[in-house]
Amino acid sequence: MAMTAMDIYKNLPKTNCKDCGFPTCLAFAMQVAAKQKALIDCPHLSDEAKDAFSDSSTPPMKLVHIGPEGDSGFEIGQETVMFRHEEKFHNHPVLAVKIAVALSDDEAKARSEGINKAVFTRVGEEIAVGMAAVEIEGLSADAAAARAKSLCETSRVPLVLMGCDPVTMGAAVGAVADKKPLIYRATPDNSEAMIKVAAENKCPLAAGAESLEKLADITQAAKGGGVEDLVLVFDGHQTARAVRDITSARRAALKKNFRPLGFPAMVDVACDDPATETVLATAFVAKYAGIIVINGLDGSELIPILTAVQNIYTDPQVPNTVEAKLCEVGDVNEDSPLLFTTNFALTYFSVEGEVERSKVPCYISVVDTEGLGVLNAYAGDKISAEMVVKTLEAQGAAEKVKHRRLVIPGLLPTFRAEIEDTSVWKEVIIGPENATGIPKFLAETWK
Ligand code: SF4
Repeated sequence: MAMTAMDIYKNLPKTNCKDCGFPTCLAFAMQVAAKQKALIDCPHLSDEAKDAFSDSSTPPMKLVHIGPEGDSGFEIGQETVMFRHEEKFHNHPVLAVKIAVALSDDEAKARSEGINKAVFTRVGEEIAVGMAAVEIEGLSADAAAARAKSLCETSRVPLVLMGCDPVTMGAAVGAVADKKPLIYRATPDNSEAMIKVAAENKCPLAAGAESLEKLADITQAAKGGGVEDLVLVFDGHQTARAVRDITSARRAALKKNFRPLGFPAMVDVACDDPATETVLATAFVAKYAGIIVINGLDGSELIPILTAVQNIYTDPQVPNTVEAKLCEVGDVNEDSPLLFTTNFALTYFSVEGEVERSKVPCYISVVDTEGLGVLNAYAGDKISAEMVVKTLEAQGAAEKVKHRRLVIPGLLPTFRAEIEDTSVWKEVIIGPENATGIPKFLAETWK
């Protein structure tokens, strides 16, 4: 049975020393109960408490670190729920773009540079390819080591080295062991040797097998061989089976506390058709993959997948908001248009993006609607003409511009009369209903 925060708290030293990073022992206990921290993170735990909670206090899915410590590495795993609405998903999946073994050294470098540049901004956040999947299958040990070393030197992202020959893998991993690449992959046929390579180089290991039972055997053997950072590999091209097996493994770990399958998952969906790859990758974003290998490096493929990651790996209980303030877009002056919108991040960044596209510098007053978009805020009484007037006053908008014209969202035309009657904004102009209409509106209406 799952421990409650009070069960855990009873066994803590109760000194509130903060050495665990939390202000009180109770706060720490709540994190352990939520499976976000391990009991072992309290350095003052008595041996009796450690014994009592050794198994049940560690998260059922291991947090696995891949790549160098610090900003250039990443963590996956430590998920706690089957469904996002139960709590949230914690560590977002990483896209790994393949560098094929058939490429020449120069072509491989060019591809690596392309991966380095695959960084985009959406709703104010950076979204990017997070890994390079370097194939070494079929190369000699020396050639594999040379390729791994050369790509590692210039790569912005950690590598997963892909091959099944332990000798070649040993040489490639040995050349870049300090960068902690992911070793892909141990199978029932090579697991003994691959576990040795991972243990000797202290690198994480991906393992795959034709059944969950055999996969569990490999992870148990890896643990026995000193490799704790493991990733479970599923065949992304057999989509239905992979979804079934990933789901079963996650359920076994989270619901039954079955430790041999308590690791993040990885799928390879790389194929020649970008549309198929996009669909498959997006499906596995929703269905539990921690790493997704693809071929595509074009924004038209990457952005939809990364957008799915961004949407699913947010906290559904916390509105995605921006600060309610007067924002300046472009080189504004006292004649610049003044618009208002809500503090729902997607709404704000849509408006900001379209204003930028219009090339007309503008002030945007952001009204606090508790993270709701325009219509939802209106329907839920989170925005009114009075609130808009008060917000503009509090933000000092009238001191920033000398005109008294205000552009309001086209979805709120009823605000016009009240704002004109009750504020200094004597000319209220009804703007477009959608942000996409802003450039045309500013070009034609704002003189
Ligand atoms: S380190 Fe241990 S004793 Fe100190 S506050 Fe955290 S839980 Fe309490």
